[in-house]
Amino acid sequence: MGILSKLFGDANKSFLNSLKPQIEAINNLAKDYHKLSDLELKKKSLELKKKVQKGLQLNDILEEAFALVKEAASRTLKQRHFDVQLMGGIILHQGQIVEMKTGEGKTLTSTLAVYLNALEGKGVHIITVNDYLAKRDALWMGEIYNFLGLTIGIIQHNASFLYDIEKDAKEKDKIRDEDLLIIEDYLKPVERKEAYQADITYGTNNEFGFDYLRDNMAQDLEKQVQRGLHYVIVDEVDSVLIDEARTPLIISAPAEESTDQYQQFSQLVNTLTENEDYNIDEKMKACTLTEEGIKKIEKALKIDNIYEQRGIITVHHIESALKAKTLFVKDRDYVVQDNEVIIIDEFTGRMMPGRRYSEGLHQALEAKEGVEIQRESMTLATITFQNFFRMYTKLAGMTGTAATEAEEMAKIYNLDVTVLPTNKPFIRNDMKDRIYKNERGKLKSIVKEIKKKYKKGQPVLVGTISIEKNELLGNYLKKEGLPFNLLNAKFHEKEAEIISQAGRKGAITIATNMAGRGVDITLGGNPFQKKKYEEVKALGGLHVLGTERHESRRIDNQLRGRSGRQGDSGSSQFYISMEDDLMRIFGSERMKNIMDKLGLEEETAIENKMISNSIEAAQKKVEGHNFDIRKHLVEYDDIINKHRHVIYNSRQKFLKTKETTPFILEYINKEIEEIISFHTLAQKNIGDFDSQEIIETIKSIFTLKREEEKKIKKLLEKIKQSNSHQKRTTLIEYIQKIAQEKYQELNSHINSQIEIIEHLENPLNLIEKGIVLRGIDTLWVEHLTIMDKLRTGIGLQGYGQKDPLVEYKREAFDLFNNLIISIRKQIVYAIYKVGLAPKITRTNKEKGSGFQSLKKGVENREESDKVITAKARDAVGKKIGRNDPCHCGSGKKYKKCCQP
Ligand code: ADP
Ligand code: MG
Repeated sequence: MGILSKLFGDANKSFLNSLKPQIEAINNLAKDYHKLSDLELKKKSLELKKKVQKGLQLNDILEEAFALVKEAASRTLKQRHFDVQLMGGIILHQGQIVEMKTGEGKTLTSTLAVYLNALEGKGVHIITVNDYLAKRDALWMGEIYNFLGLTIGIIQHNASFLYDIEKDAKEKDKIRDEDLLIIEDYLKPVERKEAYQADITYGTNNEFGFDYLRDNMAQDLEKQVQRGLHYVIVDEVDSVLIDEARTPLIISAPAEESTDQYQQFSQLVNTLTENEDYNIDEKMKACTLTEEGIKKIEKALKIDNIYEQRGIITVHHIESALKAKTLFVKDRDYVVQDNEVIIIDEFTGRMMPGRRYSEGLHQALEAKEGVEIQRESMTLATITFQNFFRMYTKLAGMTGTAATEAEEMAKIYNLDVTVLPTNKPFIRNDMKDRIYKNERGKLKSIVKEIKKKYKKGQPVLVGTISIEKNELLGNYLKKEGLPFNLLNAKFHEKEAEIISQAGRKGAITIATNMAGRGVDITLGGNPFQKKKYEEVKALGGLHVLGTERHESRRIDNQLRGRSGRQGDSGSSQFYISMEDDLMRIFGSERMKNIMDKLGLEEETAIENKMISNSIEAAQKKVEGHNFDIRKHLVEYDDIINKHRHVIYNSRQKFLKTKETTPFILEYINKEIEEIISFHTLAQKNIGDFDSQEIIETIKSIFTLKREEEKKIKKLLEKIKQSNSHQKRTTLIEYIQKIAQEKYQELNSHINSQIEIIEHLENPLNLIEKGIVLRGIDTLWVEHLTIMDKLRTGIGLQGYGQKDPLVEYKREAFDLFNNLIISIRKQIVYAIYKVGLAPKITRTNKEKGSGFQSLKKGVENREESDKVITAKARDAVGKKIGRNDPCHCGSGKKYKKCCQP
């Protein structure tokens, strides 16, 4: 049995064998291409692109495309893809995960699949673990793509670039192929959108995810930067899809509405009269203002048009205040306790502390009861990485360590893992763990070991599990007078420089796991020098010393992987003490007993197979536990993910359409139908038949002429006598007809007030878009909050024997239905009122009174207790300084306006 099949199983081996004929074909083609000129190759590439756009399948041109890339790489970077790299390329193209050890050249491998898929012209994304690597890889591999006539974009946290083709043509320099410093000259600053328009775009998972969310908050098609999620390759895929996937992406903002407003509204509604200024529908638990009422409020607030000047949210909040006053009764619907309003569940009568009514209702109740009004931080948009990456048509990944996580990759992402053998035989010596009684003994021994290696000249890379441990060890080394470099995974670019030198003779480098990842460690230092390389190689290569086992075996393997690249000599060893977190929390009693019985000195190590095994068992336990947490997160996120799809899709549909009228009329018709059905269908219980209510409700949507009202009454009377389906339909259709006429009137009224400019959108269209988007956005944000509360609530209450997830699903379903109905209502009850504005200005849309203010957000990636806050940036993606004009367009300075 060969090493391959022993290690990776027969399936893996036979799969790799099946790729051999293709590899041979690619290599033969590459030989042919070797004879062509640079120009001829570029032409060939562009022809290929044309063919693909005409419908040729990627699988049919895979060999040609790979051969082109191979030849292009050998001309530009002077590197020829190894056969295993060609295999890796095929696996990536198939939408799988390829495991290739550190230093095997995954960056170069990816170019094959990236190029092939980029030919489709729909954009290929490459995800790196930090901004520095996005730049580095784009510039490094950019030469190949550029040679073949493709464009490269780079997304950074506060900037975006294109690979500068002109620069590339001018200076065919060699330095940057070897140097780690980024030559900024090759980066041409462009708008974010342009970087996404490139054939190939490099960036981090955070940036791509946040851009996706921000696009779905955009008020305008032009402000959206992405163009769909097509094909993505995730580098260090385990880190992104597993480690980072525990915390979702969140864009949030502190609720900015002032609490005074609620007090003001609470008093304001006391001056209004039922059936004159507003209409209450007890059964539907709804409250709507009449035109009369709105006029009164406008007068009180001293404004001309509440919809235009204050936005739909204000109207909504006033209605909430009305509801609080009229429909919600203390000690029936809620109680007041300890300066808080607590909801009473209408079915069980239980108090539900912590839950809050949405749409400002809770605040309205707080104002009514004179208790403290609580401000909430709102989630404006959120998504888990799991669901973000699953949206791509094709997802692929690469890493040095995926095999231990194969189950999760398959279950959550539907990704297979294929393990590739190394290009050259792998000779690193992974030594047995050294186990100590306590931490002090362990640290002392570590220092001794490092000193020994230092004297010998062998470079050591010391891995720790935290910044704190880094510093601790650093202090020990200082005392011994040993020179060292310390990396904390904070400054990626600087750390890249340091870690790339970790293979120099006598170098001591202390790093946390994440520090300097993705950066190659060449023996003898960087740039490569044969003599220095051979010297360090003879000393045994790089020695990796792990100061503690990590929770996950995978992370340990990553650390080890720093040594022994591309057939180099090297070694690795872990030091463990019984006081390590992992051992304290997960180690077995039996283990501790053995250590005690042995009665060792603190600096004496034992190498015990049983203890080593139980460490692995403990790691597996933690891995399983963490997998469960992530699975749980996904199970819950899947539900809201469906909601997100529906909402984002309909939002997008509205943004795109030039013809909103059909949608609006449909909403209106539906609402009318519901109102009539709701109040007339309860025929079994005649008492519930409520003609007056119907008329009042309709009147709160639009005004009725006398004769119209009469006719409706007549039709209602008929239904009352014998409620046939037919009669009800007649009534519904009649009211719908009136609605349509009024809508036409509204349209011409608005058009008569605004001069129509030929090429611009119809003004009513613009107004409607504004109303719809604001309606969707406000209510969606509220929905997110409610869903979040629901989830916490369910977690807290525990549902007896019931499965909380099932309960969550059930309630989420109702909440979502309510959301859809609320959105419709907001639109329908607002639309006829916008026309009442004495003057409507074209800039109405830009003002975006409602959502714009919500967008004064900061982005958070919440990670249990720690919050990473992203810097604000304007639409182009530039970072905003404190004294710059604010991006929201207020004209104020940023620090005085939206700065959180
Ligand atoms: P990985 O991401 O797999 O850890 P990198 O992509 O950083 O590895 O590559 C490691 C090193 O190997 C780089 O210095 C790169 O230039 C070199 N390399 C990769 N592929 C080849 C090749 N086919 N020929 C020569 N050098 C290569
Ligand atoms: Mg890499």
